[in-house]
Formats: sequence, structure tokens, C-alpha cells
Amino acid sequence: MVDVLVIGGGNAALCAALMAREAGASVTMLEAAPRAWRGGNSQHVRNLRCMHDAPQDVLVEAYPEEEYWQDLLKVTGGLTDERLARLVIRASSTCRDWMRSHGVHFQPPLSGALHVARTNAFFMGGGKALVNAYYRSAERLGVQVHYDAPVDAIELDGGRFVAARVARTDADGTVRHERFEARSCVLAAGGFESNIPWMREAWGRNADGEWPVDNFLIRGTRYNMGTVLKFMLDAGADSIGDPTQAHCVAIDARAPLYDGGICTRIDCVSLGVVVNRNAERFYDEGEDFWPKRYAIWGRLVALQPGQIGYSIIDAKAVGRFMPPVFPGTTAGTLPELARKLGLDEAVFVRTVERFNAACRVGTFDHTALDDCRTEGLTPPKTHWARPIDVPPFTAYPVRPGVTFTYLGLKTDERASVFFGGQCSPNLFVAGEMMAGNVLGKGYTAGVGMSIGTAFGRIAGTQAAGVALGAGASAFETSMKGAHDVLA
Ligand SMILES: Cc1cc2nc3c(=O)[nH]c(=O)nc-3n(C[C@H](O)[C@H](O)[C@H](O)COP(=O)(O)OP(=O)(O)OC[C@H]3O[C@@H](n4cnc5c(N)ncnc54)[C@H](O)[C@@H]3O)c2cc1C
Repeated sequence: MVDVLVIGGGNAALCAALMAREAGASVTMLEAAPRAWRGGNSQHVRNLRCMHDAPQDVLVEAYPEEEYWQDLLKVTGGLTDERLARLVIRASSTCRDWMRSHGVHFQPPLSGALHVARTNAFFMGGGKALVNAYYRSAERLGVQVHYDAPVDAIELDGGRFVAARVARTDADGTVRHERFEARSCVLAAGGFESNIPWMREAWGRNADGEWPVDNFLIRGTRYNMGTVLKFMLDAGADSIGDPTQAHCVAIDARAPLYDGGICTRIDCVSLGVVVNRNAERFYDEGEDFWPKRYAIWGRLVALQPGQIGYSIIDAKAVGRFMPPVFPGTTAGTLPELARKLGLDEAVFVRTVERFNAACRVGTFDHTALDDCRTEGLTPPKTHWARPIDVPPFTAYPVRPGVTFTYLGLKTDERASVFFGGQCSPNLFVAGEMMAGNVLGKGYTAGVGMSIGTAFGRIAGTQAAGVALGAGASAFETSMKGAHDVLA
């Protein structure tokens, strides 16, 4: 029997597998995706949010624990477990050397990347290179990886893990069942964002009779169906989070249903205005820096009729944001732009003209919360408000792009799974499957990888410790470098 079974194949699973193997355990990983699509949402990432008290390799200035915590507190509106959040923050300051030892390389951010040179360490080659490096390292260390291995059931004895069952479908449609026993197990099989029927059920119908989810796009993998999460919830595991809460970004409406990745994001919202299908504005586009606000815009668009919006800029904004992969719709005049977008011309022109008239332009500075704002307008634009008056005008259509869901399993600083408040002796959880403990709502760029890396490493060490009969001391080892996190 293998010591540690890891279910999933993204960042959290890989961190767990590597830590468990380094601790001396035999490890098997079950990845639902085929090899070519391995790595889940982690193959799309670019960076990791890192606490640091002084400049460190690719990170400039300082990003102290307290500032990171306050950022998290603000975006979650207090829906976060402070103890677990601080654990993640502290672990983010010390994990990079370990990541490098497994082949991950870092680089300074490219210009135009969301004001994050101070707070986020970028992966050279992005998430694909990170995932490939971890798989190479895992294989070299002797981790057994099974691809095309979707787990559809877990055998439990009370709260104790016994085995996982995989149902593989052959090319001719034959379903083959396999059973994997292990002394301990890490669940790191992502959220349920790719499961459209479940998402539909969670979001329901809106007051206009629409099913909003029918207009959602999934930014990452198609393999995060939430099968393991659903199984565990049905089996009585304690849950955390609201099924409608998710990291949800406004992305180009022309993006594919799955795996559009980072290049479909529209990053010019704070430089212009956003209107809905009725050609009306609906939210303050300049509320805060884009990295702290981009993840609320998917939800805002989801609440609009037809779940569509249009991000409008003029020539002054061009060159100030990462250009999206699809070209925008351009026009020499506002009425022409409205016609091209199929929006009511008179309403659109009135909306933009009212906005322009309300702008009180001070000193425009996109790197600061500047004094360019509107006056007497609802909703206001509180920063970076400048009239949209220099042609050509450009519009990008936006739809809700779901990155990952927050409903997950309740956990503690040992990454344990709980049943009715009792912690399982040998079942652990990491990554998106427990991110809701730290992220009740909202998001700040790069924290997904901070959570998955911290909890993946803890879960792997814990699982190895249990399997090898060294639970408590393994926990202390996993916390080495995360300072006095339990104090
Ligand atoms: C486009 C995009 C960009 C992003 N950029 C960033 C960024 O720059 N920084 C950041 O911090 N976060 C970013 N994120 C979020 C980040 O991807 C996640 O927070 C993180 O990768 C989660 O890691 P994970 O291992 O929990 O999940 P995933 O990486 O999604 O891995 C889940 C794994 O479980 C497997 N799986 C699912 N079901 C089963 C099953 N039944 N049996 C076996 N295996 C199963 C999947 O195939 C997959 O391999 C981004 C996400 C997307 C989509």
C-alpha cells in the first residue's frame, strides 16, 4: 500500500506530493486530466503574492505582514479566518527557495502588469513552466503519477480515509474502475467552476428569468468538476463558503468556454467607463487599484441584464494597459461606436456625455489613487476619471469569467478535513478545495497561489507524517520558516 495518495494535479497537489516524498513517504498522484492538459488552473497562473520586509530578488521595496493582512481583510470584507490567513501570509515569505529547488524560476513583472512589482513574484514561463518543473521534480523523486484518473468516490471508515476509486473511460466507451488504497490522503482536486450544471444550480435564475451562468465563461481547466468536493460534502465533511462566491473576472466575451487563460482578461476598466446592455454605467470604475478590484467585475457583469458589459476607452488610455488578445471595436465618434455595438445610440451618448461633464480632472496618475474624480454622478468614478473625448473610441465586450469557486472544505492549520467538528486522522485538503477558509469573498492578485503553496506543503507534510507515524513532528517541520505561526 502506498503511504500518501494525492488527488489532483495542480499546484496544491504537486506541492503536497513533493513535500510528502521529501519527507520519505511513497506517493501516488491521481490527475483527472490527460498529460497534455495536466496542471489544472495552475497552468494558467503568472505570480505569487509574497510578504517581504525588505527588497528580495525579484521583489522591490517591502510588503510587510500587516499590509498583506489588511489587503486581505479589505477584499474579503472580514470573511476570512485570520489565523489561517496569517499562516498563508507568513509562509509566502519563505517558500520561494523551496520552489526554486524544484526548478521554478522567478522574474520581475513585465510592464503593464497590474501594479504588482512590489507585492508579487512572477514565474518565468508562467504557470505552465511552474507545473512542468514540479512534475519533472516529482517524477525524478519517484512520485507515481496517473493521468486520465478522475476520482469519483472515496471510501471512508468514519472520518478515516481508506481508498479512492477512479472510473476511467476508454476510447470505446468502456468504463474501467480502479481502487487506490493509501495510509493517508491529500485532497487537492480544485473547485467546481467547470461543472456548469452545478454552477447553474448555485446561481439559479435572476429576477428577469435568466440563468446567468449560461453566459459565464470558465477561465481555466475543464477538469475541475467538483466531483471530489461534492462527494466529501455528501459524506458529511464540514464545509466553508458560499457556492455563488468565486473569483470572477470580466473577460472578453469572445473567449472560449474553457482555458482562455490570462490573455482574455480586459484590463482597461479603470481607464474608462463600463456600460451594460442598456448603455448605462453601473459601478465605480475607479474605486481602487485594478489588482484589488479586477476580481469583482465578473460578478458585477453577472448582475447586469444579459450578463454583458462594454468597457469603453478613448485614445488617451491606449498603451496604459496590457493589450487584450482580441481587437476592440473602434469608431471615430460615440454614436458610431454605439451603432457598432448594437447599443441604443441616444442613451449611450447621453451616458458618456454626462460622465464627461461630471469629471473633475486633477493630476492624472494611474500609479496612485489620484484626484481625478466625478462630481454629482451616480455611480461616481472616484479615481482616474477623465472625459472620454479623444477619438478613436474603443470598446471591448465583457462577460463574467470564473477563475475558481470558494465553496470548499473547512480546515485548520494542519490542513485537516473535518466531519462534524472532528478532525480526520489521515485526510487533508489543500488549494481551491479549501481556499474559502481564507477567501470568503473578493480576491487580491496572487493569493490563490499563496494559499495553494502554503496548504499544499502543509498537507503533504502532514500526510507523510501520519503515514510514517510522525504526525506532530512532521507538522513542526512543515512550519519551519513560517515563523512562530502558532503563537
Ligand atoms: C487564467 C487564470 C489565471 C490565474 N492567475 C493566477 C495568478 O497569477 N496567481 C494566483 O495566485 N492565482 C492565479 N489563478 C488562480 C490559481 O490558478 C489557483 O488559485 C490555483 O492554481 C489553485 O491550485 P489548485 O491546485 O488548488 O487547483 P488546480 O490548479 O485547478 O488543480 C486542480 C487539479 O485537480 C484535478 N482534478 C479535478 N477533479 C479531479 C478528480 N475528480 N480526480 C482527480 N483529479 C481531479 C484537475 O485536473 C487539476 O489538475 C489563476 C487562475 C486562472 C484560471
